[in-house]
Amino acid sequence: MKKILHLEPVLHEKIWGGTELRDQFGYAIPSDHTGECWAISGHPNGDCRVTNPEFGGQTLGQLFRTRRELFGNIPGDVFPLLVKIIDARQDLSIQVHPDDAYAKVHENGSLGKTECWYVLDSKPGTMVIIGHNAGTREEMRQMVAEGKWNQLLRQIPLRKGDFFQINPGCLHALKGGSLILETQQSSDVTYRFYDYDRLENGKKRELHIEKSLDVTTVPFVPDRTVPETETVGDAEITHLVTCPFYSVYRAVLHGNAALSFHAPFVNVSIIGGEGTLDGEPVKKGDHMVLTANYGPCRLEGNMELVYSYI
Ligand code: ZN
Repeated sequence: MKKILHLEPVLHEKIWGGTELRDQFGYAIPSDHTGECWAISGHPNGDCRVTNPEFGGQTLGQLFRTRRELFGNIPGDVFPLLVKIIDARQDLSIQVHPDDAYAKVHENGSLGKTECWYVLDSKPGTMVIIGHNAGTREEMRQMVAEGKWNQLLRQIPLRKGDFFQINPGCLHALKGGSLILETQQSSDVTYRFYDYDRLENGKKRELHIEKSLDVTTVPFVPDRTVPETETVGDAEITHLVTCPFYSVYRAVLHGNAALSFHAPFVNVSIIGGEGTLDGEPVKKGDHMVLTANYGPCRLEGNMELVYSYI
């Protein structure tokens, strides 16, 4: 069954969020501190409605449970990937995610979290925290106890078009001025290491320092993924990453191109311009899922997209 499932994003307010999701994507944001657009999600904390009339307003999570053939009858309780757009007007907390094995034991059988970032935009001078400078866990514990965060955290510049793979155990934080598209395992397990002593509704947000120290990879090992680009028709396709949980690609199209998909499903996000997918009009800010073994797909227009599959 060859179908394009069109999705309605779910928007989440965050203390560090801004207005870029409205200003750049036209979404109806709930307030001027909106941090996350859950664009392709079957997760209970933000399950996207499928807008194709034939599905009667069901969500992606519901369709995954009741119409598994649309997703190639893959096993599992939840739609396995989650695609977000994140507007960080201010710094996010320093955080780390567990892997599947640790989350299973310590988080009621939840999945761990591997994620990756494609940078949609960044303000001049924006930095990002990826990794740390501690040589041993003991040294890390010491630096945390003494509050030597500047010395501990590894900070690098963030530029439009950059790509980062964040494996479990990698300390990370987006900083103010970044707008990214995140593709991740469908999990919400985050260990917050440090939150700049900020207050939310008069209280500091909960920290998870022991679990963070437990799961952080020491010493830090930089990811060596090198994206590769090929030309297909009038499209330039960049293979951003393949890891055990997903493959992610970026395509820039000026004209038309024929792609072919043989995955249980394909997440597609239009991040710039407009055009058509097999004749259906799509534009910047639209997010879709192509159903199982979709096969050939004709793309036309001037647009930029990010797509992913398991
Ligand atoms: Zn994260």
